[in-house]
Amino acid sequence: MPGYHYGRQAFYDLLMESTFKSSKKCPNCGQWSEWDQQPTDTCEHCGALLDDETLIRTAAREADRKEDKGFDLDIIQIHPTDAWYVIFYKRIIQVLQYSFIAIMTFILWVLAFIAG
Ligand SMILES: [Zn+2]
Repeated sequence: MPGYHYGRQAFYDLLMESTFKSSKKCPNCGQWSEWDQQPTDTCEHCGALLDDETLIRTAAREADRKEDKGFDLDIIQIHPTDAWYVIFYKRIIQVLQYSFIAIMTFILWVLAFIAG
């Protein structure tokens, strides 16, 4: 029965649409456009970013994080309640982390030395 099939398909489409899709008013041209709630989605009418605010905010946050992170690693913490194999594993990671910081510090020192 094609009618029945079509009806179910239409209902399914409607369900998918209401569940996964939403629309957003384009800040550039003012028309409603389909929006997957992604900050990178663009307007289907003019191609402008639908949510440039979120994108800018995300980019700014990313830049912030990179800036104050530098090569400061979060050294993994060993807790007294950790099992011996967890401590063993964490010790290896700590050694790698300290070696990495030592190497980075050395490279920066050499670069500063050459530049000075
Ligand atoms: Zn638009």
